[in-house]
Amino acid sequence: MTTRTTGRYKSSTHRYNAYEAVNELFDKAADRLNMAEELRQILKTPFREIEVAVPVRMDSGKIHVYAGFRVQHNGARGPWKGGIRYHPEVDKDEVRALASLMSWKTALIDVPFGGAKGGVACDPMNMSMTELERLTRKFTARIAIVLGPHRDIPAPDMGTDGQVMAWLMDEYSSRRGYSPGVVTGKPVSLGGSQGRITATAYGVITVADAFYKSRGDKLEGKTAAIQGFGNVGSYCAHFWHERGGKVVAITDVKGGVYNEKGLDVPALFDWFKEKRTVAGFPGADVMNNQDLLALPVDCLIPAAIGDVITPDNCTHIKAPLIVEGANHPTMPEADEELHERGITVIPDILANAGGVTVSYFEWSQNLTQFYWDEDRVNQELDRKMRKAFMDVHTLARQEKCSKRTAAMMLALKRVGEAEQQRGN
Ligand code: NAD
Repeated sequence: MTTRTTGRYKSSTHRYNAYEAVNELFDKAADRLNMAEELRQILKTPFREIEVAVPVRMDSGKIHVYAGFRVQHNGARGPWKGGIRYHPEVDKDEVRALASLMSWKTALIDVPFGGAKGGVACDPMNMSMTELERLTRKFTARIAIVLGPHRDIPAPDMGTDGQVMAWLMDEYSSRRGYSPGVVTGKPVSLGGSQGRITATAYGVITVADAFYKSRGDKLEGKTAAIQGFGNVGSYCAHFWHERGGKVVAITDVKGGVYNEKGLDVPALFDWFKEKRTVAGFPGADVMNNQDLLALPVDCLIPAAIGDVITPDNCTHIKAPLIVEGANHPTMPEADEELHERGITVIPDILANAGGVTVSYFEWSQNLTQFYWDEDRVNQELDRKMRKAFMDVHTLARQEKCSKRTAAMMLALKRVGEAEQQRGN
């Protein structure tokens, strides 16, 4: 199992925190754009940060007070938008970093939103449904003042799902009246969009496909190793398999599996339904989170937590392509080394933007109360992902830089223009 590091490497004596790491990427792109210092300061600084206490009566009868956060990073291009994470390691720095990434992601994929993120430091795997509901309702109540369909629109992230979004919508609506547009990633029966559950993974696999096409190659027959079998990882496996690729390894927090000939992905879904882990799946060898990163596969898809590709382990990576399903899975120094070694990294703000793209479709459907079928959702998503991929690919070639730097350059330029046009 991957041991989570608590900071990012900068030098032997200093480690980046999550927010510094994102700003490191920011500066690299801003330097290439010759961005003025004043504008850098505006774009880097979060607009608003909220930290709340979330007291929850547990099933045992005792009250536990959790720490909750919502950071609204930049709203120049539209309402703040970003997921809510339930994970024991949530802290303000990480939420800030993720909020900042959302500002760049929404701009890059070109949906009319700003960037935000929220989270509660809790362990949802060890909480009952009633505890999770009470936690969600209390957290919503405490941040409701800054939410709204035209203000700030949460969505699912690690440890949260459609059910959590449904409680959030219900709690918010009980104060402000029926407001499906206050949150995305809702169940379809409550105004969610067709295709939202699979959207992030659909986008990840679409950009991988676009990458192969850009080289006159194809995804069919290619091998992949995937870290994580939650929302993003599991559907990445599904789509990779559906498009004729071979998924040879998958790991999650409890363990992992490997089969050189390719895992039976539909059977793995059935196994997971019952066991809640991929570990122990029959007909496969045991795999762990570290060894998975070093497998000789065509494509590596980190789709679990952040900071898993480090300066220490990146030298062992053999995959020529990394598609970042997770947010910030690669530490900055590791990223540089991968680039120098000629390994293509399709960065998080591009690769996993499918989720926020379909969130945008969901929000538009809620505002118009006109609903699309899944084919239309996937067609529009496909178009947006491929366009963003080609924009990044073309700029990276022109600038002779990594796709991450090119993606950040495009995003910064768009947000910077909006800020300046609004007079800031
Ligand atoms: P999830 O909670 O559904 O799944 C998380 C997966 O990661 C699980 O398989 C879990 O076992 C695994 N995991 C957790 N801790 C781990 C550890 N220490 N080592 C190895 N594996 C571990 O979350 P998700 O929604 O699939 O999100 C995964 C990543 O994708 C996150 O980085 C998230 O920010 C990012 N992301 C998600 C979405 C979305 O729409 N869900 C959109 C964009 C980005």
